[in-house]
Amino acid sequence: MSKIPYHINLTEDEIPRQWYNLRADMKQQHGPYLHPVTMKPVVLDDLLPIFCHELCLQEVNTTDRYIDIPDEIHEFYKIFRPSPLIRAYNLEKVLDTPAKIYFKFEGNNTSGSHKLNTAAAQAYYAKEQGITSLTTETGAGQWGTALAMACSYFGLDLTVFMVKVSYEQKPYRKSIMETFGAEIIASPSSTTDIGKMMLAKDPDSTGSLGTAISEAVERAVKTPNCRYVLGSVLNQVLLHQSVIGLEAKLAMEKIDEYPDIVIGCAGGGSNLGGLISAYMGDKLTGRGNPYFIAVEPASCPSMSRGRYAYDYCDTGHITPLAPMYTLGSDFRPSPDHAGGLRYHGMSPILSKLYHDGYLDEARAVTQTSVFEAAALFAKHETILAAPESSHAIRAAIDEALKCKETGEAKTILFGLTGTGYFDLSAYTQYREGKMTDYIPSDEDLERGFASLPKIPGIQD
Ligand SMILES: *Cc1c(COP(=O)(O)O)cnc(C)c1O
Repeated sequence: MSKIPYHINLTEDEIPRQWYNLRADMKQQHGPYLHPVTMKPVVLDDLLPIFCHELCLQEVNTTDRYIDIPDEIHEFYKIFRPSPLIRAYNLEKVLDTPAKIYFKFEGNNTSGSHKLNTAAAQAYYAKEQGITSLTTETGAGQWGTALAMACSYFGLDLTVFMVKVSYEQKPYRKSIMETFGAEIIASPSSTTDIGKMMLAKDPDSTGSLGTAISEAVERAVKTPNCRYVLGSVLNQVLLHQSVIGLEAKLAMEKIDEYPDIVIGCAGGGSNLGGLISAYMGDKLTGRGNPYFIAVEPASCPSMSRGRYAYDYCDTGHITPLAPMYTLGSDFRPSPDHAGGLRYHGMSPILSKLYHDGYLDEARAVTQTSVFEAAALFAKHETILAAPESSHAIRAAIDEALKCKETGEAKTILFGLTGTGYFDLSAYTQYREGKMTDYIPSDEDLERGFASLPKIPGIQD
């Protein structure tokens, strides 16, 4: 057989026409979302003022295995998809490993991440419904950028609440979003009740994703014809991200490969959920059994050290509660942490799969080891990865090194979710030896767990 090429390319016609709804194959579903005031299961009418109609339906759909991708979204996908599946020959060589390493690269668009896959879908459904503006939050800025791109494509107004620390550290992110026409507000801000409350408590607050979410939701429900959209965690987001896994599987089939190990970084869980989707479907239905690894930062270890419990998705406690692995909505990741993935919770779907043993492992890695992996990867594979993505690189390298010891030629697939051009100050910090590793103590985590709600009959 001839050598497998570096790039295993799909054609435009091979971009999936349908998303894969993993839940249709799950033996058990996660528990319902709960209303933040009544603590009763959320019904569709509770969600409709916050989210777009079609997206609400997708959120609670546990039965349709495949959901058609509307033509307008498919057309948009063609601008930046199919994304390449790449064989990391040079990395294999420098590691001197018998393992075969493949990665699915989602960074080939201006947002620099996989987030455009769901931004495109969410903006489209809003437009279809006659919504005129959207709100959201952004941390590092990839999601805000992706949504700004999608909103400008479909002609919607967008307000982005950007976590203050990122707003100050990443002025170019703000500039990109504004170029696409979005309005950017540093969070906490004085434009919302929750923001004002947070500022009253701590005028110097550098913000958090949880607070920015609260502000964006508040703005959406108080503005006519406006809805809130979220870039991760939710079931609808994982659904849209299934294009990653469907494409990866198709490309690997073309070269007769099937992964032994599938690795993704996990913040809210959307890229990992998307990457593993088709392979997880195989596992759930007995057609395959890859080993799945979720990689998270040691500074914010939602799955590996978190609790499986009902928790608020935001600091302001105005969003529904979700059953998920969580560190508690009051958990504050260290500001020293440059490596992204700072959300306190985890996708309810992935949490359930992990709880039930289908998602095999959650692994926490320190940020200096992550940047070490990123630097090695950049030198040998020529891509400057986002810090988030580099968590997956770290684990892929470690698995490949294990293969070197055992002599096993395993096939490893990992998700390279994006590029790190806006994270160069962190790269500099790493190179200058100024990066530190923060690992929360058990007492630190207890403080976060103390904020978990007590729900009669479930958590009391
Ligand atoms: C947002 C982001 C992540 C983490 O989000 P998930 O929902 O866990 O996928 C990972 N990588 C990049 C590049 C991101 O922008």
